[in-house]
Amino acid sequence: MSLYYKSTRNSDMRAAASEAILTGLAPDGGLFVPERIPVLKPSMDELKSMSYQEIACVVMKEFLTDFTEEELKDCIQKAYDSKFDTEEIAPLVKAEDTYYLELFHGATIAFKDMALSILPHLLTAAARKNRADKEIVILTATSGDTGKAALAGFADVEGTRIIVFYPKNGVSRVQELQMVTQKGSNVDVVAIRGNFDDAQSGVKAMFEDKELGRELAEKGYQFSSANSINIGRLVPQVVYYVFAYAKLLENEEIADGDRINVVVPTGNFGNILAAYYAKQMGVPLGKLICASNENKVLYDFFETGIYDRNREFVLTTSPSMDILISSNLERLIYLIAGEDSGRTARLMEELKTEGRYEITDGMKERLADFAGGYATEEETAERIREVYEKTGYVMDTHTAVASHVCNKYREAGRDGCKCLIASTASPYKFVKSVMCAIDENCAAADEFELLEKLKTVSGTRMPQAIRDIMEADVLHHTECDPGGMQ
Ligand SMILES: *Cc1c(COP(=O)(O)O)cnc(C)c1O
Repeated sequence: MSLYYKSTRNSDMRAAASEAILTGLAPDGGLFVPERIPVLKPSMDELKSMSYQEIACVVMKEFLTDFTEEELKDCIQKAYDSKFDTEEIAPLVKAEDTYYLELFHGATIAFKDMALSILPHLLTAAARKNRADKEIVILTATSGDTGKAALAGFADVEGTRIIVFYPKNGVSRVQELQMVTQKGSNVDVVAIRGNFDDAQSGVKAMFEDKELGRELAEKGYQFSSANSINIGRLVPQVVYYVFAYAKLLENEEIADGDRINVVVPTGNFGNILAAYYAKQMGVPLGKLICASNENKVLYDFFETGIYDRNREFVLTTSPSMDILISSNLERLIYLIAGEDSGRTARLMEELKTEGRYEITDGMKERLADFAGGYATEEETAERIREVYEKTGYVMDTHTAVASHVCNKYREAGRDGCKCLIASTASPYKFVKSVMCAIDENCAAADEFELLEKLKTVSGTRMPQAIRDIMEADVLHHTECDPGGMQ
């Protein structure tokens, strides 16, 4: 059965999956959402012996119904190959009594690779399908990890160009180096003198600028997005929740049907929304626990039903979650508003003009699948040290936010479910914060020295992505104000 996508701001529009992937954002500024969430066909018992790639095909063919199975298999094969440093693609690690789903074994050692290694292939297949004759220009705003993962994914992919905007002082040194050393004849990297929200708003404004769109079309270009608002990013992320459950079952950590809670370190709300879609597909997930850092706009939202971005923006040690406007939340708002696109559009307009909106009690009741929590900077560091001292496992700062929230949730004793934590980045990527959490004497140390130290402390191999930047040349120097992005 064909599955179409509609806009969160206009239910009358209908797009095939490939069109939705190609355009990124709906023409009315809304986000594409599937008309219904498909049901997972094979049983968990059948899924448990499948590889990551096989499960990816099972899940994605339900969502992307205008792609043939051959096309999908081809995309999957090109994406989940030896770019990942483990055949499992997303290994599960048990520390204390919690499972960490390590989503950082791809080329840029953050979970964005899970989706961005396949998106370029989905996009070029979608372009062929729609006979798009224009060169695709990917515009991406990044809080650090999307940028590099998108650059790596699109570099030298024929028929595409990519421009990445990142906040000048809002990313880690390793993240910045990863981006500004990116090779490829079709890539550009620009530092914004502003924060991530400035970068994201600037990109959105360019997408919505009809005049600019026309001007580009005349020159043979068309914009698309690699941000997590593209359903071509969201759908591949549903896969690893299905995979994780199947592997827990295979490893006899759980019995078939047992509910497990999922804790997701959250920024733009893409990853946790994918977990929600997985749950709707039939994966026996319990609570979806949204973990925030000190930019706890989502925690407050789940507590009060009020989304309010009017607050100070905090730069934290988990920069990929330093976000006050979580774009993908719009997709959840749409669902809890009973798929009322008019109401969704009004709330988003309020967010744009007043920086806040409040949902009704009825909508709030529909949030029962979710819980929120947050970790302060001290709690994040403490959690890294605590797990390291107890088990020897070293996690990154984003994962530590989730791990802290997970602990708090468990201590509150609301249910006895086992917990799966989405581990979103390699500790090597945030080496300074991670090593300072473990050993106070690291504060003054050089970042490259600390990489060696982390290797010793964690007993893990230094990822290729880190070895690469140690000698690469800086190729990108452009800086601008948010107003100068266009
Ligand atoms: C992007 C990112 C997040 C946040 O994911 P969202 O899908 O934007 O909520 C968390 N951790 C890391 C390391 C990331 O790169």
